[in-house]
Amino acid sequence: MQVDREQLIACPVCEAVNINKGKKNKCRRCGSGIYTHQTFQTEKSWAYLITAMIAYVPANLYPMLITKQFGQHEGSTIFGGVAYLWEHGSYPIALVIFFASIIIPVSKFLIMIYRTL
Ligand SMILES: [Zn+2]
Repeated sequence: MQVDREQLIACPVCEAVNINKGKKNKCRRCGSGIYTHQTFQTEKSWAYLITAMIAYVPANLYPMLITKQFGQHEGSTIFGGVAYLWEHGSYPIALVIFFASIIIPVSKFLIMIYRTL
């Protein structure tokens, strides 16, 4: 009997490999119920992605650091901090913050959109 790889599911208790027969699967070794969580996977991915993109906007618009110097309050966003570090010659730190805070999250959004569509 030839079985596709996608039809195989693992038992969450004993990790035995079983054939997915539909909604009610029981492990052939230990008899535990095996539930596949295929329902709403795409919808959940979109919900998490949209939530992350919404949360990303205020995270980059509002200051993440507020400094008080000589009675003056000054806020700095992530991108403002990167520009400040770059202007003062801290290129490696500026690049690390730029990649970790801007390039990687935006790349993740684009990859997830591409993979989910
Ligand atoms: Zn089992």
